[in-house]
Amino acid sequence: MAGERVLVVEDNEKNMKLFRDVLQAKGYRTLEATTGSRAVELAAEHSPDLVLMDIQLPDIDGVEALGRLRADARTASLPVLALTAQAMQGDRERFLAAGFDGYLSKPLNIAELVATVRQYCDGRGRCDTQAALGGAGEQQTEDGER
Ligand code: MN
Repeated sequence: MAGERVLVVEDNEKNMKLFRDVLQAKGYRTLEATTGSRAVELAAEHSPDLVLMDIQLPDIDGVEALGRLRADARTASLPVLALTAQAMQGDRERFLAAGFDGYLSKPLNIAELVATVRQYCDGRGRCDTQAALGGAGEQQTEDGER
């Protein structure tokens, strides 16, 4: 389950460091963007396995960046989770309606972050591709946390 690439889009340095430290400690690779437009570029270039998208960003916001990802065939089907500041009532519906696959609220709960990233990365992307190409997917061991 390790080695998947997670694109983290976050303009707050401390939050970015937290994402990087936690994800790398769990064996994920991170791609990092501090603006929405850079996120769109990186996603198209690298096809990450998962995108964690802050909503409040210095240029285009996370909803607009998501719209651009969905409008581009290269990135249209990437799983994208919204990173929302302390969830207000109704936010969940708003972000899901905008096309996000899910969301994580900040301040971040580390266990929830790890569990959610696993949920979206395990058994998809590279692992599925390897399995389709010759059964190498069995290298992926489950740890029962699905
Ligand atoms: Mn922000």
